[in-house]
Amino acid sequence: MIGIITQDQLKTSPTLREDGRAFDELRPLKIEAGILERADGSSYLEFGGNKILVAVYGPREAQIRKLQRPDRAVIRCRYNMAPFSVEERKRPGPDRRSVEISKITAEALRPALILERFPRSVIDVFIEVLEAEGGTRCAGITAASVALADAGIPMRDMVVACAAGKVNDQVVLDLSEEEDKAGQADVPVAILPRTREITLLQSDGNLSEDEFERALDLAVDGCLRIHEVQKEALRKRYGE
Ligand code: UDP
Repeated sequence: MIGIITQDQLKTSPTLREDGRAFDELRPLKIEAGILERADGSSYLEFGGNKILVAVYGPREAQIRKLQRPDRAVIRCRYNMAPFSVEERKRPGPDRRSVEISKITAEALRPALILERFPRSVIDVFIEVLEAEGGTRCAGITAASVALADAGIPMRDMVVACAAGKVNDQVVLDLSEEEDKAGQADVPVAILPRTREITLLQSDGNLSEDEFERALDLAVDGCLRIHEVQKEALRKRYGE
């Protein structure tokens, strides 16, 4: 018998996305730990069309007095997009977006770090986006967490991030750049995978309460899958 799909079924059945992914499918992901000789910790990540390098320095004594905290270390993050990382050449240097992403990245990572061990110190995290294709803030946090672990910084847990959103009226996981631009909403989420404590939650666009709940669940599920790749990267570098 020949199956016929009616117009109504097409509207309600989850269809494949522009790039062929299912609604709950992540883009291909690869993470490597410890690739830079001169940094204390480092990582390289490829996630779909994103290519991101992270270097960590520290903990070391904060030279600037104003920065020092008597009871703990301070974490500083710099998220930077290379001029050649995007379709339309980006002007070098910080802009509003990169300042915002640097700030939320530090906030997403901080709860995982045992900063009390290093009073008056600073930990620097440099996130260099070499190629961008949507979801770089999440990919940067995921890679930064691996680089911090590679630097031997004591952590309560890793931090892992992933976005979900709404495209063509469908709640989907891990938006590509095209989906992000054409889509109706984007919800980046970062969690500590062990406790599932949320350390980043942003929302851009419009979602109903139910859609938001579904997006959050999808993003957390995506985070847990990405966390397996983080662990594998560290296992590869340091053995079991
Ligand atoms: N993007 C771009 N030029 C820019 C900033 C962003 O082409 O100056 C692209 C890039 O691919 C990025 C995507 O737009 O990943 C979505 O940017 P957004 O600000 O939503 O942050 P992201 O999704 O990367 O965390």
